[in-house]
Amino acid sequence: MKIKVKEIPRAGLEIKDNISADEIGLTGNELKVIAPLKVRADIQKARDVINAEIEVTGKYEFSCARCLEAVIVDRKDDFSIHVDIEPAMDVVDLGEEIRQEMLLDISTIVLCKQDCKGICPMCGANLNLEKCKCKNK
Ligand SMILES: [Zn+2]
Ligand SMILES: [Zn+2]
Repeated sequence: MKIKVKEIPRAGLEIKDNISADEIGLTGNELKVIAPLKVRADIQKARDVINAEIEVTGKYEFSCARCLEAVIVDRKDDFSIHVDIEPAMDVVDLGEEIRQEMLLDISTIVLCKQDCKGICPMCGANLNLEKCKCKNK
């Protein structure tokens, strides 16, 4: 998400965009994004810093922390980012900042359901779907 510094008006700039995870350098190993991210950015330029209020709406696939089944999660994250600018800078790229904030925000533990029974550590049965045959219940 590259922004031309000179094109940020005094009153600020609002950007609404659909971007892919690739565009901000997010890999599937870090966070599995399964639909384009809707990004809204309110960008203000001060003398030597750019402040942006960012809202990212996305659909993600996680693995349940207990049974490892895929879980689809819709969520909206808000955060603010600050980028120092130097007089010679024409373009700032907010992508990397957004990526880092997202990874911080979204590193929550996800369960497929609140009472997920998980996997039997002895036989590997998914206890949501089947009764395990060993005595370890
Ligand atoms: Zn689960
Ligand atoms: Zn078992």
